Amino acid sequence: MTNDQEFVALLGTKGGPAVRPGSTMPTSSLVSLAGQQIVVDCGLGVTRGLLDQHVDLRTLETVIITHLHSDHYLELGPLLHTAWTAGLKIPVTIWGPTGLQDYWDGFYSSMIADIELRQSDEGRPDFSGLVQINTLDDGKFLDHGELSVTAMRNLHPPLIDTFALSFRTSTRHVVFSGDTAPLPALVDFARGADLLIHEAMLKPALKALVARVGSSDDRLMNHLLRSHTLADQAAIIASDAGVHALALHHLIPSDDPDYGESDWQAAVSLHFSGRIHVGTDGLRIPL
Ligand SMILES: [Zn+2]
Ligand SMILES: [Zn+2]
Repeated sequence: MTNDQEFVALLGTKGGPAVRPGSTMPTSSLVSLAGQQIVVDCGLGVTRGLLDQHVDLRTLETVIITHLHSDHYLELGPLLHTAWTAGLKIPVTIWGPTGLQDYWDGFYSSMIADIELRQSDEGRPDFSGLVQINTLDDGKFLDHGELSVTAMRNLHPPLIDTFALSFRTSTRHVVFSGDTAPLPALVDFARGADLLIHEAMLKPALKALVARVGSSDDRLMNHLLRSHTLADQAAIIASDAGVHALALHHLIPSDDPDYGESDWQAAVSLHFSGRIHVGTDGLRIPL
């Protein structure tokens, strides 16, 4: 990709896979650093979100999937397929947890009629050769010239292969929490970062959310509380890490008219005195 600007764009900012009329979209982001652009997570809507950021899909090079919950990878296959039909000719490197290869193989098989037809009838290049899936683990996994990317397992039970990400250049440091319960290790991982993008839930709104979804028992509430982070907890981590700016995304709830930006700001500003961004789809945060 050839955009020299340095920014993080939040393409989709709701937590969880369900969408409703007027809803924001599940999680995906675009990191633009050191002349490279990297897609982080591919929830539903990622392709539209990239186009809205004026990304030419033919220049897609690197995609990272933080964990295998559908709100983070449901649209990976459709994104790659669409990039291929848009004229992608260089291989795309995908990093993701164990199991992502199965998703890719299944997606590829499900589209084999179309893929073979386009290759033979339209002379398209071999699609399978344009996608390489690599397994993500703890530690530095990308070292592209001036930009390096490091993964750290976070705390998102029952999943084990689930990661926070750190993007570093000589002058910039950007960290994604990934989906995680409050994680003390994130304080060191994000120490002094220019921007921490942290998932967040708004505590007063959770009861109404669980009722709205129609849960018949405590399992959804228990999952939320043991696997995710409240906005004020994210703010404490941001403050302890001494980051310059905190962006909230993966917002839970995202579509309750009783709660809006001021509620998120209020939950965070009690604990964090740096710059606060409450995520909205398409929000571009300059670095
Ligand atoms: Zn999620
Ligand atoms: Zn998740």
